[in-house]
Amino acid sequence: MRKKQFKAESKKLLDMMIHSIYTHKEIFLRELISNASDAIDKLYYKQLAENITGLNRDDYCIRVATDKEARTITISDNGIGMTQEELESNLGTIAKSGSLDFKQNNEAKEDIDIIGQFGVGFYSAFMVSERVMVKTLAYSSTEGFCWESEGADGYTVEPCEKLEHGTEITLYLKENTEDEDYDQFLENYRIKSLIKKYSDYITYPIKMEEQVRKELPKADDAHASAEPEVIYETEEHTINSMVPIWKKNKKDITKEEYNQYYQEKFFDFNEPARVIHTNIEGVVSYDALLFVPKKASYDYYTTEYQKGLALYSNGVMIMEKCADLLPDYFSFVRGLVDSADLSLNISREMLQHDRQLKMIAKNIERNVKNELVKMLADDREGYKEFFRQFGLQLKYGIYSDYGLHKENLQDLLLYRSSAEEDMVTLKEYVGRMKEDQDKIFYACGETVDKIDMLPQTDMVKEKGYEILYMTDNVDEFAIQMLREYDGKTFVNICAEDLDLSSEEEKEALSKQNQEAAGLLTLLKDAIGDEISGVRFTNRLKNHPVCLTTEGALSIEMEKTLNAMPMEEKVKAELVLEINMNHRIAQRLMDMDVEEEKEKLDKYAKLLYAQARLIAGLSVDNPTELSNLICELM
Ligand code: ADP
Repeated sequence: MRKKQFKAESKKLLDMMIHSIYTHKEIFLRELISNASDAIDKLYYKQLAENITGLNRDDYCIRVATDKEARTITISDNGIGMTQEELESNLGTIAKSGSLDFKQNNEAKEDIDIIGQFGVGFYSAFMVSERVMVKTLAYSSTEGFCWESEGADGYTVEPCEKLEHGTEITLYLKENTEDEDYDQFLENYRIKSLIKKYSDYITYPIKMEEQVRKELPKADDAHASAEPEVIYETEEHTINSMVPIWKKNKKDITKEEYNQYYQEKFFDFNEPARVIHTNIEGVVSYDALLFVPKKASYDYYTTEYQKGLALYSNGVMIMEKCADLLPDYFSFVRGLVDSADLSLNISREMLQHDRQLKMIAKNIERNVKNELVKMLADDREGYKEFFRQFGLQLKYGIYSDYGLHKENLQDLLLYRSSAEEDMVTLKEYVGRMKEDQDKIFYACGETVDKIDMLPQTDMVKEKGYEILYMTDNVDEFAIQMLREYDGKTFVNICAEDLDLSSEEEKEALSKQNQEAAGLLTLLKDAIGDEISGVRFTNRLKNHPVCLTTEGALSIEMEKTLNAMPMEEKVKAELVLEINMNHRIAQRLMDMDVEEEKEKLDKYAKLLYAQARLIAGLSVDNPTELSNLICELM
């Protein structure tokens, strides 16, 4: 018979399994049982959705049996089975390429617990087996098929006799070696404890045959001293408790159980940051088990990522990812909702308009919000880490839908501050504002250090005001949606309308600007249409110049928008400001607008170029700039 080759990716994973020196090889059982349970789920769902008669939920089960002589373990289910094509495509290729990627990216850490954390499905059988045989009959099919493989050199598929629909997997265990004991998996008590440990919550019975010791009642005429006759009978027992973790009482579940469930279910290497478990009885009754991950998954900020919670109707999964249960800004939440009030054969389209689902989604949103608020209050470090991972998503949430959710999200924000090397909330900022302060000052830039170097920062800091540093592209867009917090308006210290000076200072400034009107116009004309004006300012401490903006568009927003793939570029309205207290200001004022026009033109260009560079903008003509500098030197 012709051997077929595994797909390249599968072969790699398979090799990994065969040569695994992994210490927790026992998880192979969990993986196979979970596949069996999925296969029954699929059939049960089909039965309900298509109103199939002749199947009884009570008959569904998973059987596990060991055979010491043959050195085999057999795991069988009466689920949906596989057709020949499915057999080839499912077991010849690997679905979980995510775990393989992970492994490849972490090649250095050979021993990384990828297997235990991610689960690797069917192929984990090869960690303990030298040969694996899969017999399967697809539901409503008449011809069974047998898949067989000894590992890396390929597999065979041929027709075989199989009477009941479902799948039967036989593992031919490896021989014991000096370091590895495979015989342990032939002991029923060992298998039983593994089922209890990993698969207790599987909702179908996992059955094993057990020898039961029985004493036969003594016959009446027997001697009183005679030993009772003992026989051993084989009985089938259900090993698992079948209660899914989310249906259990919260106080009966340990943190470890939650963590283990999460890590296995969502293939996460990390424990969850928070667990939210609710059992709701009311207008609509449901159980929800939600997790806030510790780290964003590698695809979280890509379009690949699909948000959503698994949706169950009374223990039966009806949808793997129901997107309607989570708002976009909480899309990082993982978990499930189980409600008996939801109809099983509800379609996706109908779900979107389902009133009960909407109510559940609303509650979930509130639960998540409250949990985050709680985390912020009782685990600041944990929350900071959370915010590093998912803060960006919250900011998008503020910006999206025209700011509809800002009230809900604003207290979850953290910003770096000029007052301390730490993240602060808006509430904290406002709570310690100076008495005369009625604005929230912020500055935008690529990094905190770069913002610190902005000429505008000095003066604001010197006057004793705290500045929020915003380094994400979305920040300013979000701030424009917020506009104010607790009645205090947000003010960009690089924007035009910042006003920190006293009445006298203002007067002095306005006088100087008036007196120098001719000079300023000349400077502006020398620079051209790129800017809308030149003026003296008192907002700078040490620096000679800065660029500020007029209107809604700031410099950082211009950068962000222009970095997007759009045809049309936007332009912030720029104003060149010259420090009225700097020596350069006096020098300019002393010059003769008519006689020294040529020189002033050059100065204007030079000052403008400096201001652009400081603001993190490029200069259009570096050669001209360089020539200018040399000339003036
Ligand atoms: P995963 O379960 O994550 O999809 P596996 O490698 O464990 O990855 O399984 C691959 C596929 O093989 C499954 O998606 C399923 O379609 C099929 N499969 C595995 N075990 C069974 C089973 N007992 N009955 C029916 N189909 C199965």
